[in-house]
Amino acid sequence: MVGGKSAGGGVEMSNTVDSEQQCSCKIGKDIDRYDLAGLNEDLQYRRNEEDASLRALADHINKRILDAVLSQTGTDLANVAYGAVSADDALEAVYKTLTSDDVPADREARVRKRFEQTGVDIEEIESHWVTHPTVRAHFNDCLDIDTARTTRITAETARNTIEWARTRCSRVVAQTISRLSSAELVAIGDAKVSVMIQITCSKCGSTYRFSTLLKEGTCACHSDENAGSTGQ
Ligand SMILES: [Zn+2]
Ligand SMILES: [Zn+2]
Repeated sequence: MVGGKSAGGGVEMSNTVDSEQQCSCKIGKDIDRYDLAGLNEDLQYRRNEEDASLRALADHINKRILDAVLSQTGTDLANVAYGAVSADDALEAVYKTLTSDDVPADREARVRKRFEQTGVDIEEIESHWVTHPTVRAHFNDCLDIDTARTTRITAETARNTIEWARTRCSRVVAQTISRLSSAELVAIGDAKVSVMIQITCSKCGSTYRFSTLLKEGTCACHSDENAGSTGQ
């Protein structure tokens, strides 16, 4: 008989459930380096409950890194970002300035200059930033969460969902009319119910059919902006 566990074999991991034990991927190293307590829980929550994309999660990690550095070094963010009102806005504004292609080059240069003046090595920080493939690998390999299983929305699944909702809606209305008719509260011969779905942009008031919006991709008023960016 060969079986039996050798006592003290050493392979047994004491699983400290929390984020005590970091993985060794780039994100794990960032958690250690910048002391990003609770980041893994935060990522999971955002992914599961808020359906955050991997790209949005990468941005979130990078902002937490930026935030951690700035508070560690006591850098006044308002000093770096001008015109931003709250600390959150300032963080958002600085991050956007450093990462977005829409920001004028001179503005970015000024922000980088400010960092230099305050003694923050922004390029080193940026080298610790992550991209969405890193987030995916961290979820799949380190946290053992299959990102593929959380089905991402596609045009096809969206079309099906909306068609399902439309069919269901007209069926409920038709049944209700039929019951009203039976109760003699309404008299109508063979009612036909149709449901038309319209989507209206709250910014410019344009109204679209779902299929049109899907085809166009953006509202006319958004076509010259980055999707996801909050307007000024
Ligand atoms: Zn990891
Ligand atoms: Zn619009």
